[in-house]
Amino acid sequence: MIIDCHFHVDETMLALEKMIVEMDKNNVEKTALIPPFNETMYEKESTYQDNLHRFFRFLIMNLPKIGFKIYDGLVKDGYFKVNGSFKIFTEPNNDIVANAIKRYPDRFLGWAAVNPTVPESVETLETYLNLPGFIGVKAHPFMHKYSIKELDSIGALCQNRDIPMIIHLSSEPDSYKYLPEKYPNLKVIYAHAGLPFWKSLWQYAKEKPNVFVDTSSDYLTPSIVRNVVQVLGYRKVLYGCDGPYGMKRFNEYDYSDKRSWVDSLDIPQEHKEFILGKTFMDLIKSTDLDFIQNR
Ligand SMILES: [Zn+2]
Repeated sequence: MIIDCHFHVDETMLALEKMIVEMDKNNVEKTALIPPFNETMYEKESTYQDNLHRFFRFLIMNLPKIGFKIYDGLVKDGYFKVNGSFKIFTEPNNDIVANAIKRYPDRFLGWAAVNPTVPESVETLETYLNLPGFIGVKAHPFMHKYSIKELDSIGALCQNRDIPMIIHLSSEPDSYKYLPEKYPNLKVIYAHAGLPFWKSLWQYAKEKPNVFVDTSSDYLTPSIVRNVVQVLGYRKVLYGCDGPYGMKRFNEYDYSDKRSWVDSLDIPQEHKEFILGKTFMDLIKSTDLDFIQNR
């Protein structure tokens, strides 16, 4: 069973009906949804932007100190500044995900997003986690600009409930070590292959049984995905898209692109199956979802 572990709902960009059609075409059985963290954000047709992204990736890989400066500069005064300037939502709306699951309970799972700097967001978190289809917690220290330590109580909650967290890290030094050291049984997925740390995080995650990364987003490339699978092995990498970001026009999301990053890996088909869904199913085995319990 193929499960996309990282995709945002934003129907101003991509309608759920259209998602289902494209998921079917690409044999994606289920998608774990995250509410949008920023306003509608299309990709522009721009060689300049493409070159900038390439340069950014080069810096993160080879000269991380300079790369981190650029990375930090992408979030400013509540706006995300890539390809333009887009308002960041301080409190992502989990109802959007809950409603999507209601419309397609067999096809969508949900990550409940939390911003620990907003008391109401923390207070309502468990209400969402108790709704059908919700499988874990998404946190975004990068866009919401807080220290990983602020996720302390959330880490404890997720470890107790035996559910995974998915985290988009900021450049705070060594922040990827904090939760796994404090909560060794907590299952953590670092989004976008552990951006912005990549290589150093991969070395760390190799030794930590409960630390995983996903393959999602245009921050990555097929070669970065090849590298991370080589370093971490196929049991620690999870398939995800991070759509609808990266698309240029309404309802035109290309699922085949991110799928091809996994399909083209030079590893046996059985190993790809772990990346495409098997490992993720194992991470959410504590849920009472039928397809997990009856597998
Ligand atoms: Zn995302």
